[in-house]
Amino acid sequence: MIVTTGAEKEILIEGGRHLAAILAALRARVAPGVTTEELNALAEEMILAEGDEPAFLAYTPEGGGRPYPATLCVSINDDVVHGIPNEPIKTLREGDIVSLDLGLRHNGIIVDSAVTVAVGAVSEETKKLLRATEAALAAGIAAAIPGKHVGDISHAIQKEIEGAGFTVIKELGGHGVGELVHEEPFIPNFGKPGEGEPLIEGMVLALEPISSAGKAAVTIAPDGYTFRTKDGSRSAHFEHTILLERAGARIITA
Ligand code: MG
Ligand code: MG
Repeated sequence: MIVTTGAEKEILIEGGRHLAAILAALRARVAPGVTTEELNALAEEMILAEGDEPAFLAYTPEGGGRPYPATLCVSINDDVVHGIPNEPIKTLREGDIVSLDLGLRHNGIIVDSAVTVAVGAVSEETKKLLRATEAALAAGIAAAIPGKHVGDISHAIQKEIEGAGFTVIKELGGHGVGELVHEEPFIPNFGKPGEGEPLIEGMVLALEPISSAGKAAVTIAPDGYTFRTKDGSRSAHFEHTILLERAGARIITA
């Protein structure tokens, strides 16, 4: 969406604050022995407690398929995105990484954010993957300035991830958000500066670098949702909803 009124901006900021608080609580709950369904239930309970609505539950992606059956996406290790927390319920183990991706609708406006969290102690290589992917999100946000282009964001993200020796998943990327879960423009996590759609003041975007520690090829699991790396490499994912203001991006879900 393009935010045009102060009232819309207030709702967006308030929704982002709610989502940030829930993701912080989920992150704090992550530990060996915790199940994916516990995290999903906590997310749903906290969203409803604020009078908001889960944005992913029952959402049917463009192109069909069945409605998404949970509130939270929980993707462990080589699961890239859209892991279903209750089909089947999985238990987190020491040394895993887990991506938590959540969207909510607050007074009609949708916000979307994700983090990848280490479960207990993880290897140095895994820490490096998480750091590089989070740094790529920061670089993408810094490049999101009205007057520039989608390709400036894409390039900044790609440079950060590949510069650290990892690869970018090409099938997935960021997107406009606000009225719908996924809106135009699509924001690839690779590209060239100056290319693609122009960035406009008031745009609400979800930037989401998604990386692999090995090869970038992915497959979709028989559940129709879970993207997985083909070679079994670990994957990380960080996402913020941002609002493009005149001078640059304001992070809505920080
Ligand atoms: Mg998301
Ligand atoms: Mg998203």
